[in-house]
Amino acid sequence: MKTTWLLLTSVLWLHADLLSPVCKPLPVMAATTITAHTKTEGQLVTLHKFPYPYQAMLTIASDCDGMTLRKFLLIHRFLNTREKTPMGKGLELDIADSFFFFVGTDRQGACDYDGTKWQDQMSYFDRLSTTDVKDGAAIASFTRMGWIDSLHSFGDFTMASPWVTLFQRYMAKAAVQALKENKLSYSVWINHGNESNVDNFGNPESHYQKGDLIRSHFYVTDLIVPTGVHYVWSRRDSEFGLQNELYPIVLRDGRKVWGFYRYTDDGYTKEGALTWNWNPRRLSAQLSRKHLAMIEKNHLYSIVAQHLGGNQAEIPIPKDGIASLALLAHEYQRGNILVTRTSRLLRYNELQQSLRFAISKGANHRIMIRILYAENLVAGVFQPTMDDLRGITFYTPDPDHTTVVLDGHEISERELVRNSADESGKKSISIRWWPSHVTDDTPPAIHEQKAAQGPPMPFTHHAPNRWMWSEDPL
Ligand SMILES: [Zn+2]
Repeated sequence: MKTTWLLLTSVLWLHADLLSPVCKPLPVMAATTITAHTKTEGQLVTLHKFPYPYQAMLTIASDCDGMTLRKFLLIHRFLNTREKTPMGKGLELDIADSFFFFVGTDRQGACDYDGTKWQDQMSYFDRLSTTDVKDGAAIASFTRMGWIDSLHSFGDFTMASPWVTLFQRYMAKAAVQALKENKLSYSVWINHGNESNVDNFGNPESHYQKGDLIRSHFYVTDLIVPTGVHYVWSRRDSEFGLQNELYPIVLRDGRKVWGFYRYTDDGYTKEGALTWNWNPRRLSAQLSRKHLAMIEKNHLYSIVAQHLGGNQAEIPIPKDGIASLALLAHEYQRGNILVTRTSRLLRYNELQQSLRFAISKGANHRIMIRILYAENLVAGVFQPTMDDLRGITFYTPDPDHTTVVLDGHEISERELVRNSADESGKKSISIRWWPSHVTDDTPPAIHEQKAAQGPPMPFTHHAPNRWMWSEDPL
């Protein structure tokens, strides 16, 4: 009898799947949820939107414009560790950053309070050299620590004249070689800068992006996408929270990637100017109580675009921004908003909407959730790994008697978390989220403590209007 029930369930499920359209756009595709009645009528197994117990998920996607090693250490010791820092006690948040390989900009002036020129921003190679490594070792180290998870294109190629560029395809080849030598891979690509940054790609409405044009001298997607780039940011957005952050992109060379949205601005003024809010000066407005409450209430994702190192002040994030980060950490600690690095949020978003699973009942009334595969428009059909599934949460009437099977094997007990009923009254089982990593593996801090205790640091406004390009004002 049990065998018959199991077979019937499988047949019904497979049949339903075959009938469903193979390709439908992810933005409108609801999470695939297979429900199965156990012996007790009305008890269901369904997929929860967010990892238990969170109501929303948020990341800060920081572009590295103006970043220096000094600012990077200062900011990320505060964000990622529990150290005492000039910005206050570390928040233990999993927030990562991005980096440049090259700097080929003619921007005048300094990007840090100590006079560091824009040409000497944090970058893997020294300016445009493909042989002299500048911050490469630190960038590789930060990546392994989880403090960097995104490419901010190949570099800062922004020029005062948008008709001029210093980018060349051989630089992309050198960058990809550096990735291979360091065994590094980044799933997140974030376009940078004005029209001089011809290596950008992903926005078919853009007239200057050449990165995915096969016949262009600046074609790069044949080099960088195969290294693991899977999520591409290429356009502004003024929504703080969304039901889904992903939309499929077919690049002009035929490659498929996910595009993702970021909250970059608050729309247009009456005069038609775009109100960018992705500088730390606006961080407190971005992470306002109202915004955080809104994504919790409506169960939304939020990808907050920032330039955490974009100010020249000794303490690059103003006090109100620091306070808003502390508020965010509080919401995370209370189990309301899961704060995580961009690559993890996007991977979770993708898998949560692509997962195919079936329910069956084993011996002793055990409920078995079998992960079958994942399927979507960009990646096609694939077998998810344990890391792909981190955070996935199923409502189940009896978590203590529920198992999850991946690749024909029951997932080990230490990778599962059984949860008591949430506000909906339903119990659940989760695949354990990523372990927190708050250890500072960097060399001893060299910053001074006095900066944190002094008067508020003045903010610099050395961003002349001529740099306020339509695509990226920094
Ligand atoms: Zn940028």
